[in-house]
Amino acid sequence: MGILAKMAGVVLAISLMTFIIFFGRLPIFRRTPIAWLYSFFVVHIPNGVLALDRRLTGGKFTSSLQRFGSFMMNDKHPTILIFFLVLLVGSEYMAVPSAWPYLSGVKRIAVVVMCTLPYVFLYLAAYSDPGTVALGSLKHHLSLYPYDYALFHPGARCYTCNLLKPPRSKHCPVCKRCVGRLDHHCIFINNCVGVGNHHWFLLLLLSTAILASYGGWTGMGLIRDRVVERFPTWSLWPWRAYEVVGGAGTALANTPLAGTSRKMSFDTWLIYLSWGFKNFIHLASVSLLGLLISPLVWGLLAYNLWNVWTGQTTNESLKWSDWKCDMEDGFVYKRRMSHERRPVVVAATREASGTDPLTSSTRWPVEAEHVLVRTEDGNPPAPNNKDLPGVGEWERVWTLRDVENLYDLGFWNNLKEIFIPNYQFNTRGLPAAERRGRPRKRVPRK
Ligand SMILES: [Zn+2]
Ligand SMILES: [Zn+2]
Repeated sequence: MGILAKMAGVVLAISLMTFIIFFGRLPIFRRTPIAWLYSFFVVHIPNGVLALDRRLTGGKFTSSLQRFGSFMMNDKHPTILIFFLVLLVGSEYMAVPSAWPYLSGVKRIAVVVMCTLPYVFLYLAAYSDPGTVALGSLKHHLSLYPYDYALFHPGARCYTCNLLKPPRSKHCPVCKRCVGRLDHHCIFINNCVGVGNHHWFLLLLLSTAILASYGGWTGMGLIRDRVVERFPTWSLWPWRAYEVVGGAGTALANTPLAGTSRKMSFDTWLIYLSWGFKNFIHLASVSLLGLLISPLVWGLLAYNLWNVWTGQTTNESLKWSDWKCDMEDGFVYKRRMSHERRPVVVAATREASGTDPLTSSTRWPVEAEHVLVRTEDGNPPAPNNKDLPGVGEWERVWTLRDVENLYDLGFWNNLKEIFIPNYQFNTRGLPAAERRGRPRKRVPRK
């Protein structure tokens, strides 16, 4: 029982820590214990260590640690990918052979398929091009999405790559390149997640989540069956287990109660369970790990699907949450987009890429209808400011509900767009005016 509690404690602590480190900075957890724990682990503990080290070694220890940390976080290296692989291979090596003799033919096939798929999707996610923006592919990336005149504006350049920034692209500081529709850089696949491999990344999450849950569930089931085989009155769930009392040498021996059964206490129930765990220690550890990390992987998948649902990347959701703060402070204005072409930007884009940024995105069925600007002082920009696009009066925007997300075309369209390269939206047969006026989804309120 001791070993069981320790094992569960360690696995639970690791899962919780991982969850906090991964999700703690997301806007959704602001002003919750998750965010407090995140700043405790990521800000306060490192600061405390830093202060202590300044006293003890004059800061030598932390500066070498910082170099190591910055290498781990900011350089491209496969350490976490290898850790993930070792965890996957190790778990399968520990669990599958001990479970195999007890599995039916169908389950054996299922296990082989489920164990193989994460490797396939990991390989595809890690080694396919996430959508690198280079001189040769710039034209293609510019044609994928229109500029929304909120998060992405025509004419913006990446000064590291010295290229125009296509709509929805972002420079990845780890890989040191711009990537089309960059979601985030993922250390588990040692690659960016972008327009070229987002679908492989989602499938990797799905297959890993299924493997963890199925493995955990089946492993625990097998252990339960072995315990019941040995102690037929025991049951894992519901906890309605019975024990026979009055065996030779016990207190109730030779009393009228000997040979009768009574409801098992929770402690005794646990002793039977730990008998199963001790006899199948490898399978038990892996099953427990699988069950405990399942919510984490499903949670990651759910977060990614939520982004698909709302038609935004992780990068865009972070940008929108900045906009939200500025909106609440009263610094954000919008006005109607004029579809008169802006000659300067168009000429510059055409020269750089051979493409017209305002007319080449024919694939996308809708265009920006508003221009969004941040102001320095909370006053609206001058109506005759020729540097800003759009026409008419500036209107103050207080909330994200008052702006539209150009890149959200509904869950199924968003999903198809991720899974089918250069997906052509079916707008044929719709009159042009109606095509432009399609109701658009709004940016979700955070
Ligand atoms: Zn760049
Ligand atoms: Zn990257």
